[in-house]
Amino acid sequence: MRKILVANRGEIACRIFRTLHKLGIQSVAVYSDADRDAPHVVMAHEAVHIGRAPSSESYLNQEKIIQAAVRSGAEGIHPGYGFLSENAQFAQAVQDAGLVFIGPSPHSIRVMGSKLEAKAAVKKYSIPMVPGTDEAIGDVGEAISIAREIGFPVLIKASAGGGGKGMRIVQHEREFEESLKRAMSEAESAFGDPSVFIEKYIASPRHIEIQILGDQHGNYVHFFERECSVQRRHQKVIEEAPSAILTPELREKMGADAIKVAKSCAYFSTGTVEFLMDEHMRYYFLEMNTRLQVEHPVTELITGVDLVELQIHVAEGKRLPFGQEDVRMNGHAIELRVYAEDPHENFMPSIGKLVKYERPEGEGIRVDDGFDEGMDIPIYYDPMISKLISYGPDRYAAITKMIEAIRRYHIRGPKTTLPFGKFVMESPAFIQGDFDTHFVEKYWTAFAEEKIPADVLRGAALLSGKLMEAHRSKLKQ
Ligand code: ADP
Repeated sequence: MRKILVANRGEIACRIFRTLHKLGIQSVAVYSDADRDAPHVVMAHEAVHIGRAPSSESYLNQEKIIQAAVRSGAEGIHPGYGFLSENAQFAQAVQDAGLVFIGPSPHSIRVMGSKLEAKAAVKKYSIPMVPGTDEAIGDVGEAISIAREIGFPVLIKASAGGGGKGMRIVQHEREFEESLKRAMSEAESAFGDPSVFIEKYIASPRHIEIQILGDQHGNYVHFFERECSVQRRHQKVIEEAPSAILTPELREKMGADAIKVAKSCAYFSTGTVEFLMDEHMRYYFLEMNTRLQVEHPVTELITGVDLVELQIHVAEGKRLPFGQEDVRMNGHAIELRVYAEDPHENFMPSIGKLVKYERPEGEGIRVDDGFDEGMDIPIYYDPMISKLISYGPDRYAAITKMIEAIRRYHIRGPKTTLPFGKFVMESPAFIQGDFDTHFVEKYWTAFAEEKIPADVLRGAALLSGKLMEAHRSKLKQ
């Protein structure tokens, strides 16, 4: 392809343009009223205005985007993540317009877009699944007896849910019926599909996912794991690769299982297979994301590949340029999502003008962003300002670099998740790799509400320093 349109905005549009420019491919941006002066518009060779600020009138307007691509002479469309990236109908419409959709087939998107269909597809591949129902709940009585069998608490999940939304924990049997009704009506209004199912609520899970890549000829590789257990509202804030706890044997097993999941829907392009891992290191298939993930940079840093370049390569119908044995892992990378949110106020959005905006620079620091000083963070879209990524020869070096990068990242205007990131990097639980998806409630909330006495905090800081030293000297031995 010689010209590609990016149907997205912000940091991910900029990140994709960087690869297009590296490959000598002409780039086309699209933008809404709110993004007239945005860096992604400036970066592209051409830019097409597609509508008013609300995403329904711009970044979700399929017709306008396809029209912009055809008129500009683009041969392909990269959807980034979010917006239309996991919309099977859009992927189909792009193809019908004679363009290349830089992502998987509409079929794969459709199957994996429904958590229930996904479970059904992978069933015959003997992948470990979270115990629960694998069909939409029809009968309340039957559902209660299944829930009883699994054991409370259980999770009621919307089949079409996403982005951490559409999940309800039910602690006791007596709350079940009421919760089920609510979950169904919420699912109907939020996703247009009332189907819900039950899953065992795993009390202390870690979120570990595998990055895969497939070509259109049935060849697959995986690029190891990312651990994304530090979450708020079931949404990731900090990710790292590799995970602090995975053994080489488990890594290989999960990688092989992730490829089986991909095969179950004849997948090609980059994709992510998500697993939950319990405290006994048993893992369960959660879902597959059929796009480039927000957190893909940590994988790029430890493997040295450019995932966007590979996505374009396979979208053109070419074979994978290497095999599994060529994929190597080197060093450790951590990503902090810098959101315009106030971590002291339950991570509420805190948008406004970036009065001061100075990025950290240096070896082992990568900042993927789409803002400049003086810009407003629009209320219409996701409040992520940037992704701050650190890389070092080992986990402790990556943590140390991240702390230094946070110190040198100067943002004035909105509140951000930078202080939260510093707290995590300095917390003994994180340093020791001893944490799960409840990190925020367990450690941050008490700190943010200032319920921890100062001497305990000082003690924790001292302990973190000592732990880092201990781990470093252990590594050197
Ligand atoms: P979404 O599609 O909304 O991202 P996922 O199914 O991927 O939903 O789950 C998002 C997060 O919710 C997980 O990373 C985990 O923290 C939590 N979660 C999901 N399923 C379970 C479960 N069965 N038990 C405990 N936590 C879960």
